Amino acid sequence: MRDIDHFMVGGPAAGTAARFKDVFNPSTGEVQARVPLGDAALLDRAVEAAKAVQPGWAATNPQRRARVMFAYKQLVEANREELAHLLSSEHGKVIDDALGDVQRGLEVIEYACGIPQVQKGEYTIGAGPGIDVYSMRQPLGIGAGITPFNFPAMIPMWMFGMAIACGNAFILKPSERDPSVPVRLAELFLEAGAPEGLLQVVHGDKEMVDAILDHPDIAAVSFVGSSDIAHYVYNRGVAAGKRVQAMGGAKNHGIVMPDADLDQVVNDLAGAAFGSAGERCMALPVVVPVGEDTAERLKEKLIPAIHALKIGVSTDKEAHYGPVVTAEHKARIEQWIDTAEKEGGEIVVDGRGYSLQGHENGYFVGPTLIDHVTPDMESYKEEIFGPVLQIVRAKDFEEAVALPSKHQYGNGVAIFTRNGHAAREFASRVNVGMVGINVPIPVPVAYHSFGGWKRSAFGDTNQYGTEGMKFWTKVKTVTQRWPDGGSDGSNAFNIPTFG
Ligand code: NAD
Repeated sequence: MRDIDHFMVGGPAAGTAARFKDVFNPSTGEVQARVPLGDAALLDRAVEAAKAVQPGWAATNPQRRARVMFAYKQLVEANREELAHLLSSEHGKVIDDALGDVQRGLEVIEYACGIPQVQKGEYTIGAGPGIDVYSMRQPLGIGAGITPFNFPAMIPMWMFGMAIACGNAFILKPSERDPSVPVRLAELFLEAGAPEGLLQVVHGDKEMVDAILDHPDIAAVSFVGSSDIAHYVYNRGVAAGKRVQAMGGAKNHGIVMPDADLDQVVNDLAGAAFGSAGERCMALPVVVPVGEDTAERLKEKLIPAIHALKIGVSTDKEAHYGPVVTAEHKARIEQWIDTAEKEGGEIVVDGRGYSLQGHENGYFVGPTLIDHVTPDMESYKEEIFGPVLQIVRAKDFEEAVALPSKHQYGNGVAIFTRNGHAAREFASRVNVGMVGINVPIPVPVAYHSFGGWKRSAFGDTNQYGTEGMKFWTKVKTVTQRWPDGGSDGSNAFNIPTFG
């Protein structure tokens, strides 16, 4: 049995763990490794190592920090196939999709190569008589990241790419369900020339998360996962005086206007609803056709497209999607389909009880289409996070804008239309953080930033881009004058005004 160790200064630490968790291969249902679950004492060890290395890294000029990021980018690129195979063996997503997971993280590393430009301060000469004002963005010290299972390469790179480029040390607590890729990413970072201790990986569950949230020497925590835990992490971290950003769950809607190109919509929807077995926070699990005629035409095209989907093991090149992550998750998804049926939803295509020949113990769920879903149903209100597409019919544009706007989650939304005015109106009015116009999965590029609204994100700063740089730095503003010995006649007892 392989042990997936923590990645810390001073070598292996798994031997000290009191608890371990099994890591499965979702395609076969077999246990393939186990991961140690760390505790507060282990975290202390990581923090001490981070404290030793961080001041020197912060003092390293930004161009040299950028060179490490650049070397890292090249190394991850050179190892992307190996990373993608490792990733899909624990997560279950197909290899091409796993390559995308690595690539979207790498794009943030690429952005971080420009840190000398991004982290520059501001300067005003002559803000008052003989007075200049300038600001600088300094690192926070030690940052921590707590990441979900569904993007084990991309989300860690979103976080540590920005945090470290800005001059911080970073401790990553990845999902215990697929922890190998985060460890491999940290090994490669050392190989790229980063000093030992700058990026460490500690494994664990709630116990380790709580230790991170309470640790007095960790200045900031970035979290991505489900909403209840995001809210908990946000509250506990902020109560301990930390800076916290905590991204949560989602229920993204795709609005289909009567004038949309339905062949394009069906193609986009199939990928966005069922790709990665629906385990994406930017998946499109709800489609909202506007008008009965649009709904009927869309449904007619969707059914054969869904029947044509091929499900396979994660290494199957022909497969559109693979298994879901665990047996418990498969059971939960199937329960949600039961709930939708009891609530009055019409199960048009039923993925329950799906079994892949030759892989009967794998965690496969067939694609599912449910029509006549309404906003009062629990299966609509909550995130299912599986290959399940729900149709919620809207009578007009106003109703279509209202649905995602009123939903508890506000991560992403898409509108499919040929009408520029409707699209513009929708983008400006909808109460959701990321909008796609004829783009089903509008994850912003690395030089913009990622973040939802409402219960999809707690905190006020997004991931990566300039927002990421702001999250991982604090502003210091200097007001300076160099008097020549003469008096400028101002009264030193009054608050200085430069007007
Ligand atoms: P999760 O909330 O179960 O786990 C996320 C992290 O929290 C993991 O590292 C886990 O170890 C830790 N954790 C689990 N239980 C905990 C507890 N009780 N207390 C403290 N920490 C705990 O999420 P997941 O199942 O790994 O990931 C899927 C979820 O993440 C979905 O809800 C999805 O929408 C969301 N997600 C959101 C985004 C986004 O950017 N908004 C991106 C990806 C995934």
